[in-house]
Amino acid sequence: MKGQDEFLWVCRCGARSDLPEFLDSRRGFSPRLLTVSHVCRGCGETSDVQLWWCEVRVGYTYAAGETHFAPVEVVQAPGLEKTTSDDRIAVSLGGRTWVFAEEENRES
Ligand SMILES: [Zn+2]
Repeated sequence: MKGQDEFLWVCRCGARSDLPEFLDSRRGFSPRLLTVSHVCRGCGETSDVQLWWCEVRVGYTYAAGETHFAPVEVVQAPGLEKTTSDDRIAVSLGGRTWVFAEEENRES
C-alpha cells in the first residue's frame, strides 16, 4: 500500500517515479563522491544522486578546487538499504537489488 511517506520523485518536467522506477533509470557511479546519475524518463535530464539508508539525496556536483556534491532535495526512501564497496554501490528494496558500478565511458 502506498502511503504519504513513500518515496516519490517528481521531475521538473512532471514525470513521476516511485523508487523502483527511479532506481531503474540511472547509470554510472562515482566512487569518490558516492553519487550515481539519474536520467529522467520524461525529459532526459540528468541529476546526481546519493543513495543512503532510507534516504535519497538529489543534487548536483560542482567544482570548487575539487569536486563536491551539493544535495538540493532529500527524499525519504523507507526500506532502502545500501552496501558500498570500492567501485560499486548496491541498494536493496523489497527483495530487489540494484548494483551500480563505476562507469567506463561507454555510450549507449
Ligand atoms: Zn524530467
